Order: sequence, then structure tokens, then C-alpha cells
Amino acid sequence: MTTPNIFSASAGSLGQFDPQALPVSAAQAIVLQWVTPLAQGERVPLRDALARVLATDVISPIDVPAHDNSAMDGYAFDSAVLAQREGALTLQVAGKAFAGHPFTGAVAAGECVRIMTGAPMPAGCDTVVPQESVTASQHAITFAANAVAPGANRRRQGEDLARGSAALRAGRVLRASDIGLMASLGLVDVKVKRRLRVAYFSTGDELRSPGQTLDAGSIYDSNRYTLGAMLQRLNVEPIDLGVVRDDPDALAATLLQAAESADVVLTSGGVSVGEADFTRTQLQTLGDVTFWGLAMRPGRPLAFGRIWSGGRPGAGRAALLFGLPGNPVATMVSFYQIVRPALIAMSGAQPQPVPLIPARCDAPIRKRPGRTEFQRGIAERDAQGQWRVTPTGSQSSGALSTMSEANCFIVLAHEADSLDAGDAVDIMLFDGLV
Ligand code: AMP
Ligand code: MG
Repeated sequence: MTTPNIFSASAGSLGQFDPQALPVSAAQAIVLQWVTPLAQGERVPLRDALARVLATDVISPIDVPAHDNSAMDGYAFDSAVLAQREGALTLQVAGKAFAGHPFTGAVAAGECVRIMTGAPMPAGCDTVVPQESVTASQHAITFAANAVAPGANRRRQGEDLARGSAALRAGRVLRASDIGLMASLGLVDVKVKRRLRVAYFSTGDELRSPGQTLDAGSIYDSNRYTLGAMLQRLNVEPIDLGVVRDDPDALAATLLQAAESADVVLTSGGVSVGEADFTRTQLQTLGDVTFWGLAMRPGRPLAFGRIWSGGRPGAGRAALLFGLPGNPVATMVSFYQIVRPALIAMSGAQPQPVPLIPARCDAPIRKRPGRTEFQRGIAERDAQGQWRVTPTGSQSSGALSTMSEANCFIVLAHEADSLDAGDAVDIMLFDGLV
């Protein structure tokens, strides 16, 4: 059986681009074409559903609110009396309604019911006059008839959500408000997509793991920790396959193991064209993988495709593969720009573009058109409410400290040229609210 090469069908979309200077937007689009959303789902209790992806629409089994109720502390009455009178209106207080303790008696003409916020509207009452608008004596209230319009301060049954309507749509990444919303519908659990399994490992003879001694010429492996942390943020199931030596057999064994156990495999290092860059050759043997030179800085080399657990295209189980560059900042930028949207789409959600915010850049930046740059910046709002951003000192793709120092990317568009101090740029903030 032959399996079509992953890239044969996308040749059309790649056609107009040079794969050695592939624009970021083209790479993002091609990657998304190759993503198949997960099919399997599982039920989880509401408590465990935060940041999971809804597998089906959530249909409301009840009206919310379940009954007409008061939006204010005040007095409920039948608004028919408003039409009959002008000036002051006096109503007798027939009883009380609290949230959880409805007034069940009848309300006669000329009567009202003392009512608290959230209490069900008594039968025959459609309007609440706030307590601030009345003069109350022991058994009666008086208020100006024009102080309140018919139907005021009443929340209607089902006005938030009608029974049978979709409260949340499949594909939604659940937020705190969604968890509360489902609780308000009385749901105890929810069907979500299973977690995406993402295997990752570092490559390089120079790499030592934290805890080991740093001998001459070696460095500590940071990418595996950065990748593990970025994956945790996306709420996927990370599978840490450790550090793999620059040895073709060791690489092949780890890649096969990864293809067997994961939906997606991330490697770092070994994708450029150095003599020890064996990841490249192994990926070519075990899968259908293409190598791109992205028109992006940092993060030029990137491998993308599939690898097969059977050791050749079409054999066994396929996992999507991203071979990320080894330089620590390049690893992160490639992850955020290329891998992250793909993982979100595979998880069953719609990747949303991260908002860009216009800012003034405090320093000049040298750049040539023809690649997208993601510089590290420190942004803040000035006294006039304008965003200002200063690039971190070093922009080296090896200097991970600049990612920690920064609070945003300064995004310099593909076609942009050099900038003077004070010029307008777009920034992408690292932190979000929910
Ligand atoms: P490579 O693409 O394998 O040549 O790696 C490019 C640069 O990134 C080299 O300086 C590597 O030492 C460095 N590098 C590769 N992998 C890692 C890692 N996991 N942690 C830190 N630095 C790395
Ligand atoms: Mg290497």
C-alpha cells in the first residue's frame, strides 16, 4: 500500500514560496492544513474541565433563570396599577419573598410583596419598585407612580439561557466562567476531547541534565524544560523522552517510540545542516518530513511532517512531527508561532490569532524586509495610556534570559524595514487575564 507523501498535496499551497525562505504566515497555513482534530472524547467532572476542549455542544436542560425573579431589593406588585393612577401610590404589604423562600400567597389589587434580589416573583406581580424609591410604614409603602416603569427590575425566566438552547459550543476551550455556567445548569460532568499526547526530547552530545556535572564543552539542556512548561500551559499530556545523543540509531529508536505513543512529536536541535545534525537524516528515513528555512528570526530551520512507528512512511501509526531549532529562544519562538496553533487545532479547538497591540518603540531597530522578526521587548503604558516598548539588550537566539526579562514580543512584519526610535510597532503581550 502506498501512502501519499504529506507534501505532495500541499505543493499547490507551497508553490509560490521558496521553502528556504518560507513566510511565517505560509508555514502556519500549511501546518494547519495537515492537522486532523482529535476524535476521541471523555467525560470529566466540572472541577477538572478547566482549559479542556468541549467535545459536543452543551445544551441547557433548564431555563436560566429557572423562574421570573427580582433584580433588586424592593417591593413586587402588578404594574396594572401604574396605568390607573398619577402621583403617589400606596400599596399594602401582603408578605415577604426571599431568595430560596418564595411568597406563595395571593396578591390582591392594591397589595405588594416585600422582595429580595433573586427571590421568585409572586404570582400576579410583574414589577419591582426598589426600596430606595419608597417610603415604608409598617404595613404599607408609598411611592411616586412615575418612579418605576411596568416590568422594571424583573429578570425573566430563561432570559439568560432558554432550555434546549446551546449554552456552549463544541470546540470551546473551557474558561472559569464556562465551568460556572455549566454548574448553573446543574451539570456534574462534561464531555471533552481527550488530551493531546505530545512527546518531546532534546538532541545533542553537549547536553547535560540539571543535577549532572558540567564537563568541558557541555551545557545544560534547557529546551526540554521550556518545552515541557509550554506544553503544560496548553494543557496537553506531555511525554518527556529525555536527551538523545547525536547518534543515528539512538535517534531512530527514540523517534519510533515517540511515534508509537504520541499524537505529536517535538524535537529540538539537529535540524540545521551541521555534521552532527542527524535528526535531519533520521526524519527523512522514518517519515515524510520536509525541511523549511522559515523567513523568521529567531527560528530559521524547522522540520515538519509525519513519522511512522513502523519505520517508513505508511507503516504503523503516524505522529505529526515538528523538528525545532536548538537555540533556546528560537525553540520558544517556533513553538509559539508554528507549533502552538497546530496543537490547539489538533486538540479540537480553533486557534485564535494572538492580539497585536500598537506601541511606540523607544529604540531604533535594524531589520531588512523579507522575514518576520520576534524581538524580545519590555512594554508598559505611559501616563497618556499609550504603549511604549523597549527591546531587551541582547536579541541573541541563545539568550534565554531575554525571554525571562521581556514581557512581550515586538513583532516586526515580513515586509517591514528598519525603524527609528519613536516609530510605531506591534507588540504581542505574554500575559493574558483568563
Ligand atoms: P543545533 O541545531 O543542534 O546545532 O543547536 C543549535 C544551538 O542550540 C547549539 O548551540 C546547541 O548547543 C544549542 N542547543 C541545542 N539543544 C539545546 C537544548 N536542549 N538546550 C540548550 N541549548 C541547546
Ligand atoms: Mg545539536
